[in-house]
Amino acid sequence: MNILLIGSPGSGKGTQARLLINDFDFAYFSAGDILRHLSKENTPLGRQVLGLIRRGELVSDLLMKRILVDFLKKNKGRDILLDGYPRNLSQAKTIDQRLILKGGLNLVFYLRISDREAIRRLSSRVVCCQCGAVYNLITSPPQKKGICDYCGGKLVRRADEKLGAVKKRLLIYKKETKPIVDYFTKKGKLMFIDGERPIKEIYKEIKKSIDALCLDTKAI
Ligand code: AMP
Repeated sequence: MNILLIGSPGSGKGTQARLLINDFDFAYFSAGDILRHLSKENTPLGRQVLGLIRRGELVSDLLMKRILVDFLKKNKGRDILLDGYPRNLSQAKTIDQRLILKGGLNLVFYLRISDREAIRRLSSRVVCCQCGAVYNLITSPPQKKGICDYCGGKLVRRADEKLGAVKKRLLIYKKETKPIVDYFTKKGKLMFIDGERPIKEIYKEIKKSIDALCLDTKAI
């Protein structure tokens, strides 16, 4: 079973993905987390990725393909949960090709939120630099200021969540990522999810669809 989460920056993909990997045995591919990790390396590639992330721009399709192929090799035979990849049509075609032998993508959840909500969320968001847990300082603050509830790690603002970079990410999202919504709709794989509801409510809807899919797969 292979699942994809798409949606604008701040739509809650990472939050839902973390809930899913608690309940299901997915190998989790978070493009953003992998690239942030890479950007900490003091190498020409690391510095290049850091610059692109800071400016809210996408890294090259070629690099993303290399990262994806490596991940799929390491996770042969496992169910895959993709978050943040694909982000444009060329990446969508790549994932379709690469997953052919694994039965293809089963479901694409499209978390829909307005631009206004995306900006509101991203401007009050902090993340744990150790475990990646996400907090919203207005709606879901940590118990202790600046400290992660789960692992005690330090909470920080992401470099690409300053207003200029956020606006750029939203623009790129509309131009590059939105077309893949049509691409997967035409393939009959897309499920629209209202991403402006409470986290638990959204998760319940997503989980219900995956549970149904598991039952169908077992029946076959
Ligand atoms: P995210 O955490 O998913 O919002 O990703 C953070 C940043 O990583 C993005 O703004 C891009 O700079 C980069 N990135 C993440 N996924 C991709 C992708 N599939 N293709 C290119 N760049 C990406």
